[in-house]
Amino acid sequence: MSQHFQLSGGWVEVIAGSMFSGKSEELIRRVRRAMIAKKRVQVFKSHLDNRYTGVFTVGSHDGRTVEAVPVDSAAQVATRLDPHAQVIAIDEVQFLDEGIVALASDLADRGRRVILAGIDTDFRGEPFGPMPQLMCLAEVVDKLHAICVLCGAPATRNQRLVDGKPAHWDSPLIMVGGTESYEARCRQCHQVLRGDQPRLL
Ligand code: ADP
Ligand code: ZN
Repeated sequence: MSQHFQLSGGWVEVIAGSMFSGKSEELIRRVRRAMIAKKRVQVFKSHLDNRYTGVFTVGSHDGRTVEAVPVDSAAQVATRLDPHAQVIAIDEVQFLDEGIVALASDLADRGRRVILAGIDTDFRGEPFGPMPQLMCLAEVVDKLHAICVLCGAPATRNQRLVDGKPAHWDSPLIMVGGTESYEARCRQCHQVLRGDQPRLL
């Protein structure tokens, strides 16, 4: 990003977007460039996501990886932090608790570059976990888009399918196991089955 070289001291940058929008690719790209600049870099990723490569690497859908420390909470990030790291990157940050907001701020205040990649909306199309606060406090926010698998428009939403059908609004935010799958979709093609919810318009 062209703005980044103008920042000095510590700062927070957020890479937000739907699944398949290229967040992990972009995080890996930034991490590699920081390494080329001979920065001391530490990468974390949420435990909940162990797609493709196991829990000790960040993998993108194109197969590139960097090594990462698995974490379940903001407190674990703090405990496992390398005190000499100059750049701290966290993938799948949407799964972490609210403690990550204060921690990211604190690290930036202490001169660290903090790179956070996360899904900004859940399967209902609503803000996901700590993402709203992180996007507000960040110096730089990039919102990436996937491609809607139904119409080819830029996709901003995560379509949850259970047994191939759109999931109900009431299904749990994070489903472990089961036959669910996800697709990238645009606002118009995104579907959430609702009961008798009143419509706003
Ligand atoms: P994210 O971390 O946002 O889930 P990744 O960086 O892991 O995304 O993967 C992005 C890659 O996924 C793209 O470069 C592309 O090769 C692939 N991909 C698969 N399905 C889609 C889609 N519907 N839209 C865009 N990219 C897709
Ligand atoms: Zn669409």
